[in-house]
Amino acid sequence: MKVLVLGAGVVGTAAAYFLAEDGHAVTVLDRAPGPGLETSFANGAQISACHAKPWATPDTPGLALRWMFQADAPLLFKPLRWDPPLWSWGLKFLRNCTEARLHVNTERTLRIALYSRAVLKALRQKTNIQYDQITDGILHIYRSRAAFAEGRATAALLESYGLPQNILSPEECARVEPALAGAAKSDLVGGLLSPEDESGDAHRFTVELAKLAAARGVKFKTGVTIKRIEGPHRRVTRVVTTTGSGCTEETADAYVLALGSSSSLLARDLGLKLPVYPAKGYSITAEIENPDAAPTVSVTDETNFMVFSRLGNKLRVAGTAELTGWNTTLDPVRVEPLLRNARSLFPAASSYTDVQPWCGLRPATPDSVPLLGATPYENLFLDTGHGTLGWTMACGSGRIIADLISGRTPEIDLDGLGLSRFK
Ligand SMILES: Cc1cc2nc3c(=O)[nH]c(=O)nc-3n(C[C@H](O)[C@H](O)[C@H](O)COP(=O)(O)OP(=O)(O)OC[C@H]3O[C@@H](n4cnc5c(N)ncnc54)[C@H](O)[C@@H]3O)c2cc1C
Repeated sequence: MKVLVLGAGVVGTAAAYFLAEDGHAVTVLDRAPGPGLETSFANGAQISACHAKPWATPDTPGLALRWMFQADAPLLFKPLRWDPPLWSWGLKFLRNCTEARLHVNTERTLRIALYSRAVLKALRQKTNIQYDQITDGILHIYRSRAAFAEGRATAALLESYGLPQNILSPEECARVEPALAGAAKSDLVGGLLSPEDESGDAHRFTVELAKLAAARGVKFKTGVTIKRIEGPHRRVTRVVTTTGSGCTEETADAYVLALGSSSSLLARDLGLKLPVYPAKGYSITAEIENPDAAPTVSVTDETNFMVFSRLGNKLRVAGTAELTGWNTTLDPVRVEPLLRNARSLFPAASSYTDVQPWCGLRPATPDSVPLLGATPYENLFLDTGHGTLGWTMACGSGRIIADLISGRTPEIDLDGLGLSRFK
C-alpha cells in the first residue's frame, strides 16, 4: 500500500519505519530540513513510563491559579488572552481534573507507555540503534516532605497498573546516583527508582531511525510545507504542499497525521476538531566538564518539575510548561529556573557558561493521552497528541499505526486511546 506519513518528528519517523517493515511504500513529508528538528529535537530525553500521571489532577486548577502571575512558574497559563482553541482545550482539561478521570487517564497512558518501552527495547536489540541511551532506570528525587508523600501516592497508583517503583532514602538515592551525594546531605528527603525506564537522545534516535527506514525504501521529502489536507467524501484524496519551487500535491492510499502540535491546525480543513494544543517547554544543554560530578542515571526533580539526562558528554535539563499558543519565542525568564536548578543539584558538573537554550511545543491533549488510530476518514490515521511523553510513546504508537494499516490487530487494547473518546 502507498502510505504518506505527515511529519518527520520522532513519532512520524517511528511510524514510517514500522510501516516499511510491513512492506508498504512509505513517503514522509516535513517542512524542516531534516527529521526530528521541531519538538523532538532537544527534549528531556527520558523514556519514562513512570511519568504516566496526567497533568489534569484534582490539584492542578488550584496550582495553575497560584502560578498564573509568576513569570517563572513551572506551568504558565494565560486564560485571559484571546485564544478560543485554548479555552476549548481548557474546558476539556478541567473536566479531566477529577479523581476518577485521573485513574482512567493514568491507566491509558501507562498502557501505551509500557508497550512503547518494550517495542523500543526490541527495536534496539534488532537494529543495534545508538542514541546515547542509558538503560539504568529513572530516579525521581523529592526535596520536600509534601512532594515525597504525593510521589509515594502516585507510585502506589502506578504500581496498581503494573509499574513498580522502589522507594529510596536520600542515602540510597546517592548510591544509585553518586553525583547527588551533595544534595542528599542537604535538601533531599527521598526518592523513587523506576528501574526499567531509560533515557536517550530523541533527535539522534530519529535521525538514525530515519536512516534505517530509508534503507527499507522510505522516502523522506524535507523542506515541504503541508498547506492543506483534502478529502471531500470522508476519504482523504490529496495533500497540497509548497516547496521552494511552488505548489504541488501528494497522494496515497493511506495517510498518517503525525504533525505534532500542528496536527490540530491541519485537521481543521477536514472538519476534524482535534483537542491538541501546544504546551511549550524549555531545555538547556550544557557541556559536561567534570564527568564524575554529572549524573549518569536520568533524574527527575519532582519538587521543581525538571528532568536531567546525560547524553554523551552533555547534560540536558528540561521542564516548564506554557500554554501560550503556537509560538517558539525563547523567553530568558523561563530558561533561568533550569539553569538555577542545574547549578544547585549538580554544581560541579559544568561551569554552565555556554549552555544551549531551546524550546519546543508539546502536542498536548486535555487528558494527557495521545490520539491514536482511526478517524471519520477511512484512510486517515492519527498518531499525535503525545504531549509530554512523545519520545516515550513513539515506537509503540508507530507499531500500532502499522498494525492498523496492515489490517492486523494491535498487541494492546486501543480502547480510550482514540479520537472517539472526545465525542
Ligand atoms: C521541554 C520538553 C521536554 C520533553 N521531555 C520529554 C521526555 O523526557 N520524554 C518524552 O517522552 N517526551 C518528552 N517531551 C515530549 C516530546 O518531545 C514530544 O511529545 C515529541 O517530540 C512529539 O513528537 P512528534 O513527532 O509528535 O512532534 P514533532 O517532533 O514536533 O514533529 C512534528 C513534525 O511535523 C512537522 N510539521 C509540522 N507542521 C508541518 C507542516 N504544515 N508541513 C510540514 N511539516 C510540518 C514538523 O517540522 C515536525 O518535524 C518533551 C517536550 C518538551 C518540549
